[in-house]
Amino acid sequence: MVLLTLNLPLLNPSLLSLSHQHHRRRLILKPPKSSSQLSLHSPPSEPPLFKKTGVIVVGAGLAGLAAATRLASENIPFLLLDASDAVGGRVRTDAVDGFLLDRGFQIFITAYPEAQKLLDYDALDLRKFYSGARIYYGGRFHTVADPIRHFSDALQTLTNPIGTVLDKFLIALTRIRVLIRSDGEILSADEISTVELLRKIGFSEAIVDRFFRPFFGGIFFDRELETTSRLFDFVFKCLALGDNTLPAKGISAIPEQLAAKLPSDSILLNSRVVSVGDSASVRLQSGELITSELGLIIAVEEPEAIKLLAGKLEPRPVQKPARSTVCLYFSAEPSQIPVIDPVLFLNGSGKGIVNNMFFATNVAPSYGPSGRALVSVSLIGLFEDVKDEDLTAEVVRELSGWFGEKMVGPWRHLKTYRVGFAQPNQSPPTDLMKNPRLGPGLYLCGDYQTSATFDGALVSGRKAVEALLRDRALIPV
Ligand SMILES: Cc1cc2nc3c(=O)[nH]c(=O)nc-3n(C[C@H](O)[C@H](O)[C@H](O)COP(=O)(O)OP(=O)(O)OC[C@H]3O[C@@H](n4cnc5c(N)ncnc54)[C@H](O)[C@@H]3O)c2cc1C
Repeated sequence: MVLLTLNLPLLNPSLLSLSHQHHRRRLILKPPKSSSQLSLHSPPSEPPLFKKTGVIVVGAGLAGLAAATRLASENIPFLLLDASDAVGGRVRTDAVDGFLLDRGFQIFITAYPEAQKLLDYDALDLRKFYSGARIYYGGRFHTVADPIRHFSDALQTLTNPIGTVLDKFLIALTRIRVLIRSDGEILSADEISTVELLRKIGFSEAIVDRFFRPFFGGIFFDRELETTSRLFDFVFKCLALGDNTLPAKGISAIPEQLAAKLPSDSILLNSRVVSVGDSASVRLQSGELITSELGLIIAVEEPEAIKLLAGKLEPRPVQKPARSTVCLYFSAEPSQIPVIDPVLFLNGSGKGIVNNMFFATNVAPSYGPSGRALVSVSLIGLFEDVKDEDLTAEVVRELSGWFGEKMVGPWRHLKTYRVGFAQPNQSPPTDLMKNPRLGPGLYLCGDYQTSATFDGALVSGRKAVEALLRDRALIPV
C-alpha cells in the first residue's frame, strides 16, 4: 500500500468559516492542516479514488471558465474538469507549421458586454478587421462599408448592386433601433426568424441574398437565416458598437487568459466526467469520484449535458439540428494573395460552397511564419458525404473563379476542420435567458442557456454561479 496525497483544497464544515466582508458573506477556506491529513490509502499505480472540493465545474469552455472566474472572485474553492487536453472548448487554436489555425473561423467582437468585464483586451493584442466586407457577386467584388468608420467607402458603395439605396438607409435605421434598446430587452423581445425580420423591415431580396445570407449566415452557420431575430439584433448591436477582431496569438488566447487567472491546481484536464451522482458528485472515466460541498455546475455542450443528466432534466423539446461548419486553411506566398487589407470576403453570388474567406495574416501577421500568408475559407454545413481532398479541390476551383487560377493554384492546403457541433440551433422559439438552476446544488451553463456567442457563454457561467451563491445565501437573493 502506498500513500497518495491530494494537493487539493479539502472543504468540509470544519474547514469552512463564514465571515462578513463588505456586507457580503464570503467563504474563507482555512489552509489544510498537513498533507498527511489529506492522504488516501490506495493500491500502487491506481489513480486516487476520491477528491473533495467546494464546487465542481464540468467543462472548461468559455462558460465553465467564466463560472470558475466568478467562484474565484468569491474565494470559493472549486475544481474545473475538462475531458480535453486544454481549456477553451470550441475556442481552440492549433499551431501547425508555424501557422495559427483556429478550430473554425471565429471573430471576437470587442463590444461583447460580458467579455469587456472579464478580459484584458490590451493583453490579447486584438487585431481589427476592416469594418465592412467585400462581396463576390456577378463575377466581381463589391465593397460594403460601415458608414460610421469608413464614411467615404460607404458613400462610394451606395449605388453598388449589393442592395438598393433604400437598403443602405434601412441598415442605418436598424442600427438606431438596436442601439436604443438594452441587451435584456433585445434578448427577450418578441421573436421571428432573422429572414422574416429583414423582410419585415423592408430590405430587398437582393441585399438579403447578397449580404445578409453570407454575413449573418456565416455568423450563425445558417444561410437560411432561420436563427432568432433576438440574436440578429444582439449581434447587430455589438457590431455597431465594437470592432471585429482576432487576438494576435489566436482565438484560444481568450480562454487561456481566463484560465491563467485561476488557481493553478484548480483545473483538471483530460478528466472526462462519465456520470453525475445525486449529491453533486461526479465520476470520472478514470473511476475517480469527486464530491462537492456546495454544488455542481455542468458547463458542457447541450447534447453532452442531456446525456450526463439523463433522468435529472425535464423532458426537452426535440432537438433541432445543430449548426455545423467546415474551415479549410491554405498557405500562400504573400505575392499569391490578391489584397493586403484585413477584409472579409463574402460569397454573395448564391452559387458554390464557399460562404466566406479571408487572409488571416492580413488581420494578424502573427497567424503565419514570416514571409507566408494564411488563407482561411469557411463553408456552412458539414459536407459529410464529401471527402476532404474533394472538398479542397472544389474550394480551390471555386476560389480560382474569384481570384484567378494563377493566384489560387499554388496555394498549399494545410488543414481542414469539420466542426459538427459549432452552435446549437437557435431558431424560434428560443429562451436566451434560461434559469441555470436545475435543483439545489445543480446548475447548468453553456451557450445553449443564453446565446451561442462568446458573450452568451460567459454570461451563462456567471449566472450559474450566482444562482448557486444565492441558494447558499452567500449573496443576497
Ligand atoms: C467554428 C466556430 C465558430 C464560432 N464563431 C463564433 C464567433 O465568431 N463569435 C462568437 O461569439 N461565437 C462563435 N462561436 C460560438 C462560441 O464559440 C460558443 O458559443 C462558445 O464558445 C461555447 O462555449 P461553452 O463553454 O458553452 O461550450 P464549449 O466551448 O463547447 O465547452 C464545453 C466544454 O465541455 C467539455 N466537456 C464536454 N463533455 C465533457 C465531459 N463529459 N466531461 C468533462 N468535460 C466535458 C468540452 O471538452 C469543452 O471544453 C463559434 C463556434 C464555433 C465552433
